[in-house]
Amino acid sequence: MQTLSILGATGSIGQSTLAVVSLHPKKFQIFGLSAHSQYTQLIDAAIMFRAKHIVLTDVGCAKEARSYHQLSGCLASLHFGEDALDFIATDKCVDTVMAAIVGAAGLLPTFAAVRAGKKVLLANKESLVMTGEIFINAANTSGATILPIDSEHNAIFQCLPRDFVYGDLPSSGIAKVLLTGSGGPFLERELESFSQITVEQACAHPNWSMGQKISVDSATMMNKGLEFIEAKWLFGLANTDIQIVLHPQSTIHSMVQYVDGSVLAQMGNPDMRTPIAHALSYPERINSGVSPLDFKALRDFTFSTPDPQRYPNLYLALAAAEQGQSACTVLNAANETTVAAFLAGTISFTQIAELNAQVLKAHTLESCTTISEVLQLDRTTRSFTQSLVEQVAC
Ligand code: NAD
Ligand code: MG
Repeated sequence: MQTLSILGATGSIGQSTLAVVSLHPKKFQIFGLSAHSQYTQLIDAAIMFRAKHIVLTDVGCAKEARSYHQLSGCLASLHFGEDALDFIATDKCVDTVMAAIVGAAGLLPTFAAVRAGKKVLLANKESLVMTGEIFINAANTSGATILPIDSEHNAIFQCLPRDFVYGDLPSSGIAKVLLTGSGGPFLERELESFSQITVEQACAHPNWSMGQKISVDSATMMNKGLEFIEAKWLFGLANTDIQIVLHPQSTIHSMVQYVDGSVLAQMGNPDMRTPIAHALSYPERINSGVSPLDFKALRDFTFSTPDPQRYPNLYLALAAAEQGQSACTVLNAANETTVAAFLAGTISFTQIAELNAQVLKAHTLESCTTISEVLQLDRTTRSFTQSLVEQVAC
């Protein structure tokens, strides 16, 4: 029996994780579940999965949550605030932590799970982008196992040899890692109309159903840029080891190319329950509830290179990866701020990349080797970006 805590249990990844867990009641039990403010959904899930502890990070909903908790008869202990996230991420009863909070808010509890030596299922890519080497060093020191949930990284992991040594491509005969991306909903849209893109259009991904922030990141392809940085750290790759390939059908989730000309690809229907089930049960395989891929139903199978004019955010992330850690931390903070402003209707779609570019341009590389330096840089960047947002606010 594996004991699990899910950080961000009410989100898209959190719900898919619970869907897989529900298929295997003898394999998994739930210790802790968290959400920011969706207390009814969290408490209902706690009842259904017999969770021992639940955490709400938004203390503003405490009164209503306490009363719903009492009326519902939920047996889980109810906690509030960020410290309680650390508790469900690190308690000695917990084997595995699903890190599925969105954005920088996920950093501290994810990092706590890493430092506690847990098996960490990493969906929260932002925490790795913000901290890079600090994160990997902490995992090495504690003995934590990091298993990728991002479908691309999970695919790469599946295509690497079992005895792959971190960062050592030549010993495994690997030539390149091919990171695929769909190009999002605006692959074909006329560039001239990009400034009129609405929140609804940006969040309507053609293949994947996801939370709002990652949906916008997929539309701008910042998501692929963050994933490029994530892949570097997860597998110890140089920038030149990774090639980004557009594959609009999202049937291949990424590939590894070997020196003998072989290319190993991981394929399947675009459904996050597959990488979640893979990581939950690794190295065994379990049913995820995802229907098998029907090759006869596939109409197209195409590949191309992303256009810098269409996806300026992607190329900003590649530039940050080239510059160094503090540039990645800064770009992530800028992007979270501009995406939130776009979702709030304050700036246009094209202003996301414009403002991100301004922030990155204003940054000069600085030391970013401790979590407190990362958090400080994250804070100052958010307030600088917010001041730019207010200048251009529509
Ligand atoms: P989501 O918006 O659907 O869910 C986010 C979860 O985090 C919710 O449970 C929410 O309550 C919680 N949360 C939000 N703000 C918080 C805060 N300030 N403090 C604490 N908790 C907070 O997001 P998602 O789509 O499930 O994505 C979660 C993470 O997984 C992101 O980092 C995303 O990049 C990554 N990811 C998602 C997908 C996907 O298919 N959705 C795929 C790959 C990677
Ligand atoms: Mg992904």
